[in-house]
Amino acid sequence: MSDLLIQNIGQIASPKPGNTRGKELGDLSIIEDGAVYIRDGVIKSVGTLSEVLDEVEGQPEVVDAGGRAAIPGFVDSHSHLVFGGNRAHEFAMRSAGATYEEIAAQGGGIVSTVEATRAMSKAELEARAFLRLELALEQGITTMEIKSGYGLDLDTERKMLEVINELNDHQPIELVPTFLGAHAVPTGSTKEEYLEEVLNMIPELSDLAEYCDVFCEKGYFTKEESRRVLEKGLKHGLKPKIHTNQFNDIGGVEMALDLEAVSVDHLEVLSDEDVRSISDSDTIATVLPGVSYFLNISYSPARKLIDEGAIVALASDFNPGSSMTMCMQLLMNMACTKMGMSVEEALSCSTQNGALALERKNIGCISEGYQADLLLLETDDFRNVAYFFGQNHVSVVIKKGKIAYKCTHLER
Ligand SMILES: [Zn+2]
Repeated sequence: MSDLLIQNIGQIASPKPGNTRGKELGDLSIIEDGAVYIRDGVIKSVGTLSEVLDEVEGQPEVVDAGGRAAIPGFVDSHSHLVFGGNRAHEFAMRSAGATYEEIAAQGGGIVSTVEATRAMSKAELEARAFLRLELALEQGITTMEIKSGYGLDLDTERKMLEVINELNDHQPIELVPTFLGAHAVPTGSTKEEYLEEVLNMIPELSDLAEYCDVFCEKGYFTKEESRRVLEKGLKHGLKPKIHTNQFNDIGGVEMALDLEAVSVDHLEVLSDEDVRSISDSDTIATVLPGVSYFLNISYSPARKLIDEGAIVALASDFNPGSSMTMCMQLLMNMACTKMGMSVEEALSCSTQNGALALERKNIGCISEGYQADLLLLETDDFRNVAYFFGQNHVSVVIKKGKIAYKCTHLER
């Protein structure tokens, strides 16, 4: 593996290792006019050029950053990137005033995505997901969790998880697969029947996933049903994650904390008591402002969570029904304008804390010993990423020490 020396970096902005909660979350390491030395895919040295040169061995490839700012690669710890179909027409109907019921009556909603995903061959599903991952990479995502959950039957759930695993070997973004069989109840089954089916899928599919997730919500899975799914997952080596408190509080947070879930995700409707319990735990609170924006619902109380000391991660929830974006830069803007985060906190929540939500402790900081996942930006001040919104500021993406993407503007 070739080594890299990146020099002439206008600003290196990164969370400090371990600064994941409370006041420390926004306390970044900022190095002006810096350099980074990478060996065997790992960051060996960060500092001024003279400091870094002391550590250099051999003849690394030299990259001139041209004064650009550098930040860690984004870690998107919650997405549904693998799916069939397209629901642009539903968005158009909704925007023109159609109700959820009217859209559902025309075959819309999650049912349409499930049908399209079931109908699609594995190769086609993979080809579509590959194109989306190219877009994700260009926008600076270097690690991404992807859930199953649009199959709602054993064969299609397996197909989705196999696609995620295969794509992991065929493109630069590191992918983390999660089993979400309990995403909804498929048409034609009762909840009781389908819950049994999901419980039976877990041993069949546990080799293909790292986490088990469930949608704990009125009309989906109760707290008790969610617990059964997550406990079965645990028994087969899948650590728990949960979609909970999106529209209603039905006790999902307390149950998930009891199981020591890795993360509790959504949290748009959250009691002060739950804010405190999450803050007293090591479970990551994953907030998803893209959903609140897209569905025009309330935002999770990220400010309160941070102030109380919770470990908060920011993720896209990229999916065709409720958050059709994977632009972490835009989500950072939403976190600042809608959830009261500082720009510095929004960066930490999208990098180091996202990595913690995937238990990747060597990812998410530009710091010695960390995996060399970093972005060079088309600006010399990282704050532009959140400020100049709706714009892709990523110029170069480096994943595990290799240049994985270079914006063609660089040739100008
Ligand atoms: Zn989700």
